[in-house]
Amino acid sequence: MSIHDFPRYPLTFGPSPVHRLDRLTAHLGGADLWAKREDCNSGLAFGGNKTRKLEYIVPDVLAQGADTLVSIGGYQSNHTRQVAAVAAKLGLRCRLVQERWVDWDDPVNDKVGNILLSRIMGADARLDPHGFDIGIRSSWEDALREVEESGGKPYGIPAGASEHPLGGLGFAGWAYEVAQQERELGVFFDTIVVCTVTGSTHAGMVAGFAALEDAGGPTRRILGVDASATLERTRDQVRRIARHTAGLIGLERELRDDEVTVLEGWAGDLYGIPVDSTVEAIRLSGRLEGMIIDPVYEGKSMAGLVDLVSSGEIPAGSTVLYAHLGGQPALNAYSGIFA
Ligand SMILES: *Cc1c(COP(=O)(O)O)cnc(C)c1O
Repeated sequence: MSIHDFPRYPLTFGPSPVHRLDRLTAHLGGADLWAKREDCNSGLAFGGNKTRKLEYIVPDVLAQGADTLVSIGGYQSNHTRQVAAVAAKLGLRCRLVQERWVDWDDPVNDKVGNILLSRIMGADARLDPHGFDIGIRSSWEDALREVEESGGKPYGIPAGASEHPLGGLGFAGWAYEVAQQERELGVFFDTIVVCTVTGSTHAGMVAGFAALEDAGGPTRRILGVDASATLERTRDQVRRIARHTAGLIGLERELRDDEVTVLEGWAGDLYGIPVDSTVEAIRLSGRLEGMIIDPVYEGKSMAGLVDLVSSGEIPAGSTVLYAHLGGQPALNAYSGIFA
């Protein structure tokens, strides 16, 4: 088996754009910085990394003849918004469990941004008081049961699509896409920087690049920047999903623990709560590049990138690819920071 043997239902525009970050590179005065833009990878409700994962899950949804997608996330979940968009596109119903993952007091937190978009797209988005958890939740199992009891045929997609058996394939495919774009652009990205929370984005990349490497490709560093603030759980989940995904795509060896790097230092104390470095990174990216990033995920991974390049931990001779995974709609619930 290889990644090419898995059916992929097209939800994206094709390969996501890759471009230089010239002014950020000059500002930091070190490594060459580029971005690959999952935030504009699709016409479905602003896209994002979950849309790419869902391309490999939709064939299973269709094969099972489900009529309702059921998923879970925080009030401002990008994932549930992307599930709602895919349900709309496929003509399926959508039931979303929106938990209180973030203690964020903005009065419109449960009304604007992602949850607003999900409601516009016809999803049944219900609020639930439970807190943050990257694993499998009872509230989600309850929602599945309710759909069944009302005569529907549910298809469950766990938080971030990460605990789904096919959840790592989207970003294993991303690795192959990067390798192709490198050939076209005549560039080699020796370092990838990616935000990590539920883990299958980072895990998929690790599996995909390991398979390319074992086929004779170059070695590179993949640096996950934790934004979960539950570091050990996230690191374990990335390793587990990376091993599973590597098995699916035919890697003939067990991935080592040291092939998964999840860095701490930029998540703050809590998932979803920006810290000073997050806000600075958002302003920097906006001011220098017109590239908008969010306070929950990319603001934290960009803060990591800025420090790693400034300190020389990513050396000046490096060429870095920053994976922009989307997530801007959540900014609407954080307007107070920039008022
Ligand atoms: C979900 C998400 C992430 C984290 O991806 P995981 O696969 O959950 O680790 C990062 N950035 C954005 C914008 C996201 O929506």
